[in-house]
Amino acid sequence: MIYFDNAATTAPYKEALKTYITASEKYFYNTASIHQSGKDAAKLLEAARAQILDLMGLKTYDLVFTASATESNNIAIQSMLRQKKQFGSTILTSELEHPSIVNVLEEMKKDGFTVKYINTNEDGKVDLDHLKSLLDSDVVFVTVMALNNIIGSIQPIEEITRMLKDYPKVHFHVDATQAIGKTDLNYNGVDTISISAHKFNGVKGIGGLFIRDLATMRPIQYGGGHEYNVRSGTVNLPGAVSMAKALRLTLGEAREVKERLSQFNEKIRTAVRDLPFIYLQPKAASYIVNMAFIGAKGEVVVNALSKRGIAVSTTSACASKLATLNETLLALNNEDKIIEGSIRISMGRHTSEDDVNKLITALREVYEELGDVLK
Ligand code: PMP
Repeated sequence: MIYFDNAATTAPYKEALKTYITASEKYFYNTASIHQSGKDAAKLLEAARAQILDLMGLKTYDLVFTASATESNNIAIQSMLRQKKQFGSTILTSELEHPSIVNVLEEMKKDGFTVKYINTNEDGKVDLDHLKSLLDSDVVFVTVMALNNIIGSIQPIEEITRMLKDYPKVHFHVDATQAIGKTDLNYNGVDTISISAHKFNGVKGIGGLFIRDLATMRPIQYGGGHEYNVRSGTVNLPGAVSMAKALRLTLGEAREVKERLSQFNEKIRTAVRDLPFIYLQPKAASYIVNMAFIGAKGEVVVNALSKRGIAVSTTSACASKLATLNETLLALNNEDKIIEGSIRISMGRHTSEDDVNKLITALREVYEELGDVLK
């Protein structure tokens, strides 16, 4: 199978797997145990934590290890909103967020919060003027993702951080799950930031939440209090050490991979641009190409490509089980037939020129095969 679904998950680096196994064998201990082996494990955990904070340029932050970005997003939202209730009840968010943000916010409405959506520009970025106009004294929480998982648009995080400096009551959360190694955003000043190792060639089951002011955070699940009393449960030490390794490797090769994938991105676009019933979403992050086969169903195209040994997806792995139209594509004012016919091609560090050539051949074959369906 030629893999073009790297926005859903990535193949782990061999080195990250090796680190995971070594740490599992040599340091299987509980980092909370007070015997010497436990202390050694805790020391290794702190080294991994410090390395990740350093690599992210967030040395003044704390990092809480979690099991996934979904968990990190849940902690940031639920923990903060519980405490903010007395100060206001409005949440601002982009229209482009992942279900692990949107569905949590929907749930928070039941607790009396109001969710307002910030408009999106035609290039898939939040409209800063609209955000500014929504910032009234009732706003307590703003959440905007760093890089969108459907079309790859990169959000103006630094500008939003600057804007929110004038609103000290507001907690600013960024879901940076897709952004690691894909763009050089500066997260300094953001209150909380979520990441997940499996999106940057790390292993599954380990994520992180960077926190600017730890004292403001409360747990949303209760237990032994392992991670700064914010997240309980025996810490996934092998995962944490392996995530540090994957992060170092990802950031080390980010520029080279980005340039290579940018050329591939252009090549794919050029190859289908002349086909009348293909619609290309605007180019953003280099690893994603989102296109619609107008008149067809995205699932049909995904299956036709799958039969040819090529893995792509319709929207995101998380959203594609839901029957509704994709929110990101709706936010960009796409017609229903474009949204329904959309596929997401997402490349990664393993993607080769040969893979891209095979993809292009298959895309054109599927286009021919669909024939009169397209209109
Ligand atoms: N946010 C975004 C933008 C994502 O793309 C994903 C993964 N699809 C998540 C959050 C959830 O990540 P995880 O699988 O680590 O829960």
